[in-house]
Amino acid sequence: MIKVHGTLISFVGDSLAVHDILGFLSPSARKLCRLCLVTREEIQTNFSDEDFQLREMEEHDELSQIAADRGRGDSDSGIRGVCPLNVLSSFHCVNNFNFDVMHDLLEGVCQYEIKLILNQLLFVDQFMTLSEFNQRISSFHYSFNDKKNKPTCLSMERIRNIQDHKLGEKASQMWCLTRMLPLLIGDRIPQDNLHYEILLLLLQCLDIIYSPVVSIPQTVILKHMIIDHHSHFKLVFPKSRMINKHHHMVHYPMCMRMCGPLVLSQCLRFEIKHNFGKRLAAINCNFRNICKSVAVKHQVMQCAGWMGKGLREDLECISGSVVTVSSLEGSQSIIESLHLHEDSEIFAASKVTVYGIEYIPNMYLVTGIDDDDEPQFSRIVVILVPGTTAGEINFVVRRCYNSGFFRHYHAFCVQEMEMCAYSLVRLDDLIDHVPLTALSSYENNSRVYLCPRHSLIHHRE
Ligand SMILES: [Zn+2]
Repeated sequence: MIKVHGTLISFVGDSLAVHDILGFLSPSARKLCRLCLVTREEIQTNFSDEDFQLREMEEHDELSQIAADRGRGDSDSGIRGVCPLNVLSSFHCVNNFNFDVMHDLLEGVCQYEIKLILNQLLFVDQFMTLSEFNQRISSFHYSFNDKKNKPTCLSMERIRNIQDHKLGEKASQMWCLTRMLPLLIGDRIPQDNLHYEILLLLLQCLDIIYSPVVSIPQTVILKHMIIDHHSHFKLVFPKSRMINKHHHMVHYPMCMRMCGPLVLSQCLRFEIKHNFGKRLAAINCNFRNICKSVAVKHQVMQCAGWMGKGLREDLECISGSVVTVSSLEGSQSIIESLHLHEDSEIFAASKVTVYGIEYIPNMYLVTGIDDDDEPQFSRIVVILVPGTTAGEINFVVRRCYNSGFFRHYHAFCVQEMEMCAYSLVRLDDLIDHVPLTALSSYENNSRVYLCPRHSLIHHRE
């Protein structure tokens, strides 16, 4: 028998659920934040976490007891009652330094702001018609990793309905739309457009927030980016109110310093896991003991997965062929790096999947960061799979010339170098394991753009 010990370090969920479990009044209360004592009026003007007094454990315990005795909570403190999780030795609700980036950003700030920006750019400034915009959403050549997240077309009623803050996209679609919007409409928007600038400032923040590794200096940069973004939003849309989720963003840099990158605990992953149970409840049609039914079926599914068939292999390589080295592009670099002969045979894959990430020739890899913090990109020419483990994979690549980061499109521009030699890169040597697809804007003779999903310079202190 194995004894497993666990401890609760953080509780994550949407605002309504977290406020309920942690003993706070609803997020619509005047004291709306679970970490600080900010009021609804103050979040309109104050965008730095130094402006707010954080909740403290002792004071909170006294106030929560008073609120619990009253029965209906205390609107002066925003507390509804005692948090039952506070009995755990390592947890206290005021030290739960975690906000969910999926609910805050993808289902909150991004939808709210992009709705306002599109309303301005499409219907007031008329840089593009709605049908043209929708046509571009439908026909845009999305990256390989974003194909499943293609956004749905938007209606005029939806964009113009400012009372409702939603755009009607799912979280994963919203992430795709937010990142691709500069390439979708950037060619029609003049440089330095104030409304478009909100989007660019938001994307800068997202780059760090969505990074799976964040350095301490980056959290300080993020703090100032968030202040810039919020101030600019208020300047451009003075009549639009800052929402609770804007205020949560103000605490993000501190939360990252306390708990690590927030994206690692976002609800998107948990909701995908819960999807099985949610679908099962409807399919099963047995509601006598729904928790037991879902738990049993879930265990059966998990068991079947661990038995073998449903379990994902570390390395999957199902297409390709054994070829002689001399027939491959960049053969000289292969011979030198792997100490092979011209007539040696090797397996060249047309696609490999490593831990669920697919690599295909002509995708781009981040193969280095130079002294000026500029990423080095290389195009995959051949994928060599000499063995059965992921560590043995070698990519034959051609280094590209990085023309720099084009802020207007929020993308790096790359060019193929004519005289560039081939080189071999191992999977373990990559700066970021997610491959990139070449993207285009709608300019005439568009350059080749690469849009990493997050900041690439996190390894630097
Ligand atoms: Zn707060």
